[in-house]
Amino acid sequence: MSIADNIKSLKIETGPGVTLLAVSKTKPATDVQEAYNAGQRQFGENLVQEMVEKYEQLPKDIEWHLIGHLQTNKVKYIAPFVSMIQSVDSLKLLHEINKYAQKADRVIDCLLQIYIADEETKFGLGFDEAIELLRSEEFAMFKNVRIRGLMGIATNTKNEKQIKEEYYELKTFFDGIKQSYFRKIETFNTLSMGMSSDYKLAIEQGSNMIRVGSTIFGSRVIKYWKNN
Ligand SMILES: *Cc1c(COP(=O)(O)O)cnc(C)c1O
Repeated sequence: MSIADNIKSLKIETGPGVTLLAVSKTKPATDVQEAYNAGQRQFGENLVQEMVEKYEQLPKDIEWHLIGHLQTNKVKYIAPFVSMIQSVDSLKLLHEINKYAQKADRVIDCLLQIYIADEETKFGLGFDEAIELLRSEEFAMFKNVRIRGLMGIATNTKNEKQIKEEYYELKTFFDGIKQSYFRKIETFNTLSMGMSSDYKLAIEQGSNMIRVGSTIFGSRVIKYWKNN
């Protein structure tokens, strides 16, 4: 099946309540263009340099989401154009995003990445750390970042029960955070969970944004995300 066909069948399968983020990391700009021509506008990348290169080559109405670990010294390269940073995993990083968003005279949408997997290689805030961040005085002063929700990556396992439990926990945490810190804030509405191997389980557990790469673009030779 073509990239266009893959996007079409994913959209039909997941329905209108779930946003499809097409993860184009390691794939050439021509693949992104093909997806774009099929109507896709939201794309995910995990490396800053690759995102900048594609941003420069491709249509400007693409919404670029960063989904990989972001080093504070690289925020400045994407702050002028990035649509959403899904991988916020520290107050220090959020501080830097706020700073460069202010310089670019914009507000950058962010998700807090929550650590739910049973793997040490994955990044993310623990539940306690996320709460600590949201309660901090420093966070209250940030005017140029907007927390839109949470993102999580489940354990890379075939054990569906475990994946389900991890996503269930994240959904429960999301609901609690919304109640406690974003009650009247309608823009806190995004729960990004699920990728090619587990998006069905994630949607069952309440995901409203799935990040799908290989099911759309075919398998990647190098899986950067594992150690990046
Ligand atoms: C690579 C990646 C994805 C997409 O993975 P696929 O298995 O190709 O769908 C989703 N989320 C993150 C954070 C990734 O790094």
